[in-house]
Amino acid sequence: MASPYCRCCGKALTDPVSREAGFGPVCRIQNKFNQANERTQDMFAPPRADYEVSLIQGVVCIVDHDNGKSVTNDAELVIQDLQERRLLVGPFSEPRRVIYRDTMGVWDEILHENGKFAGFRPVQEKDRAAALAKIKGGQS
Ligand SMILES: [Zn+2]
Repeated sequence: MASPYCRCCGKALTDPVSREAGFGPVCRIQNKFNQANERTQDMFAPPRADYEVSLIQGVVCIVDHDNGKSVTNDAELVIQDLQERRLLVGPFSEPRRVIYRDTMGVWDEILHENGKFAGFRPVQEKDRAAALAKIKGGQS
């Protein structure tokens, strides 16, 4: 829901992606982290996330098909999948960055450490090429 102010902390939102989401990057990522850490004991819990993985310019790009559990909710197991498929490291054992397009259509990074989920970081782009440019051009 579009809003000029963060619906979580009330700060004025300046960039279009934040305005469209209704949350600033800090609150958006905090919400994701909370979702990822929610342990559902519900036997009727939704199934695993449905997503697509591609390797582009050495970056693992995930698109959430928004069908069942979200990648955000399932981040820990998604990283585990990538680890099992040996996608988290490159040919020289260098760690690969992982970005994903969430159910809002925004690309963010999923952090991993030693093959395990380690959090989220805002990329804050709706276009994959722009997200890749940000990831490749920025700090590691
Ligand atoms: Zn906020």
